[in-house]
Amino acid sequence: MAKTSSSTREYRDLFRRLELALDASRMGVWEHNLARDELLWDARMHILYHTGNDKRRVSADAWQKAVHPDDVNRANADFDRAITSRGRYDSHFRIILPDGNIRHLRSRGHYYVNDEGEPSVIGAEWDVTEDVALHHAVQDQKAQLEERAQELAESYAEIEHAAQHDYLTGLPNRNFFDARLRSLQNSDQYRSLAVLHLDLERFKEINDSHGHTAGDHVLRVASSRIIAAVSASAVAARTGGDEFVILLTDFSSTAELEAIGKRLQKALSEPVAFGNAVLRFGVSIGIGFTLEGRPDANLLTESDVALYQAKRLGRNRIAFFDPALKDQLSARRTLALELQDALEQGQIIPHYQVQIDARTGGIAGLEALVRWNHPSRGLLAPFEFLPVAQDAGLANAIDAAVLDRVLEDRSHWRAEGLDVPRIAVNVSATRLHDAELLAELERRHTDFHGIAFELVETIFLDESSDEILDRIHRLRSLGIEIELDDFGSGHASLLGLVKIRPDRLKIDRNLVKDVVVSVEQRRILRSIIQIAQALKVGVIAEGIETKQHAEALRRFGCDIFQGYHFGRPEPFEAVTRRLSSEQFSQEKSARRR
Ligand code: C2E
Ligand code: MG
Ligand code: MG
Repeated sequence: MAKTSSSTREYRDLFRRLELALDASRMGVWEHNLARDELLWDARMHILYHTGNDKRRVSADAWQKAVHPDDVNRANADFDRAITSRGRYDSHFRIILPDGNIRHLRSRGHYYVNDEGEPSVIGAEWDVTEDVALHHAVQDQKAQLEERAQELAESYAEIEHAAQHDYLTGLPNRNFFDARLRSLQNSDQYRSLAVLHLDLERFKEINDSHGHTAGDHVLRVASSRIIAAVSASAVAARTGGDEFVILLTDFSSTAELEAIGKRLQKALSEPVAFGNAVLRFGVSIGIGFTLEGRPDANLLTESDVALYQAKRLGRNRIAFFDPALKDQLSARRTLALELQDALEQGQIIPHYQVQIDARTGGIAGLEALVRWNHPSRGLLAPFEFLPVAQDAGLANAIDAAVLDRVLEDRSHWRAEGLDVPRIAVNVSATRLHDAELLAELERRHTDFHGIAFELVETIFLDESSDEILDRIHRLRSLGIEIELDDFGSGHASLLGLVKIRPDRLKIDRNLVKDVVVSVEQRRILRSIIQIAQALKVGVIAEGIETKQHAEALRRFGCDIFQGYHFGRPEPFEAVTRRLSSEQFSQEKSARRR
C-alpha cells in the first residue's frame, strides 16, 4: 500500500512537473477520440483559443469554426493523413479569435489506440505568431537582399554596357570597336576587312548656332542613318564628337567600299528638321582596308589618315588610305605641336597687302595676312598651317594673335604720323561662331574704327544665322566693318549678301582671273557689282595681277583693287616704308597745288 501511495505520489509529482512545464511553454494539450468523435481540451487550449471557458469536452465543430477558412482544408488534410497512416500529425494553421485577431498555431500530435481500444490522436498546440512574424521579416529581408543583388547585377550590366557604348546614340564606343576589330583581325575568319572613318561636316556650326540639343539630335539621326545604310554584319561606333567608324567584313572590292561610302554620304546629306530649323550637314569618309587579311595592319589609323586626306580635298569627299599619306600625317602632327609654341613666342605675324582706291590710285587700306615665322622652315604661308590649326583647335588663337599684332602695328604707324584708312583682318568661321568673341574684343578696350573683319562667305550658308547676324551687328556697334571675303566662290553668295549687308564684298580672285578673256566672266562680274551697288555694298576685287584686270574692273564700277599688280603681302617694315613714301608724295603733290 505504502508502495502504491509512494508511486501515486511519484506519479502526482511527475504530473505536476509536466503541468508546470506545459504552463511555462504555454502549450495546450488536446485529445481527439476518433471512435466517439470527441475532443478533449485542457485549460491552456481554451486560453490559446480565447474561448472564455475551460470545459474539458469541446465539439469538434467548434475547433473547425475557429480555424481560418483559408487554412481549414489543409489542417483537416494533415489530420486525415495522420489517421490513415496511423502516424504523426503535424500542422500549422491560423485561427480567428472571437475578437477577430488572427494567430498562427503550430499543432503536433500522433495517432494511438487508447485503453478502451478506441483510435485517438493526442497532441499539443502552441502559438507561433511571433515566430511567423519574425520569419516573414526575415523573408522580406531576404527578398530585399535578393532584389538589391538583382539591381546590382543590372547596374553592373549597365556599367558594362556604358563602358562599351556611347550614351547619346547607343552605338558601341571606341573600346568596343577596338576589341571587335582586334578579334576579327586575329581570327582568320575574314580576309577582307575595312574601317570607314566618318566625320560630319558643319556639325560644329550646327552646335554653335542651334545649341547642343540640336547637335545631339543630329548625332542621333546620323547614327540611325548610318546603321540603316550598312549591312547587319557591320559594326558602327561613335568614337568622338562628330566622328563615327564602321567596320565592314562582307565586301569584295574597293569599288564596293566606295559604293557603300557614297550610300552613306547620300543618307547623311538629307536635311534634318529640328524645331523650325532645317539642319544640313555632310560627311567626309576615310577608308582603310585589306582584301587579303593583314593582321598587323592598323586599319583604324589608316582610315584616320585617309579621312585627313578626304577633308583636305574639300567637303564631302571619300578617300582611301595611301601609305604616303602617313608621313604627311605625322608631319601635320608635329606642326600642330609646334604651332602652340609659335603662338606663345610671337612667331605668328601679319604681313600686309595694300588695297588701292580705284579712283584716286591711293592706298585705301591694308589686308593683314597671317604668316608663320618658323624658326627652321622660314616664312610659312597660311595654306601650310591654317588647316592644321583648324584641326588642332588653334584657328581662333591665330586670328586673335594676328589682330593683336595689327592693333600694335597700327599704333606704331599712328605714332609716326602714318595714316592707314582701314586694316582688314581675316576671321575664321569658328571664331565668328565663338560666343566668347565679343567679350574678348571688349576686353581689349580698343577703338575698332578702321578695322574690318573679312568673313568667309560659307559662314552664311546655314538658314540658322540669327545668332550670327546678331553677333555681326554687335561687332559693328564696336566700330568694326564687315567684309564678305571670296565672294562668288561659294554657293549662297546672294543670300549672305542680302542677310548681312556687309560694308564691302571682296570678289574672289578666280572670278577676276579670266575677266579679260571670258565674256561670261565679265557678265558675272558686272552683275555682281550691280547687285552690290543696288544694296549699297562696296566692292573690292582680289587678284588684280595686271593692268588689264584693273582697267576692266574699273569700268564695271569696282571701288578698291588688291593684287600682285599693286603689291604682294609684305612685312611690317616694308609696309611702313611704303606708307611713308606714299604719304610723302601725297604731301608733295598737295604742296604743289
Ligand atoms: P584671302 O583672304 O582671300 O587672301 C587673299 C590671298 O590671295 C592671299 O593669300 C594673298 O597673298 C593672295 N593674293 C593677293 N593678291 C593676289 C594676286 O594678285 N594673285 C594671286 N594669285 N594671289 C593673290 P595668302 O596670304 O596665302 O592667304 C590665303 C588665305 O588664307 C586668305 O585668303 C585667307 O582666307 C586665309 N588667311 C590669311 N590670313 C588669315 C588670318 O589671319 N586668319 C584667317 N582665319 N585666315 C587667314
Ligand atoms: Mg581675306
Ligand atoms: Mg579672299
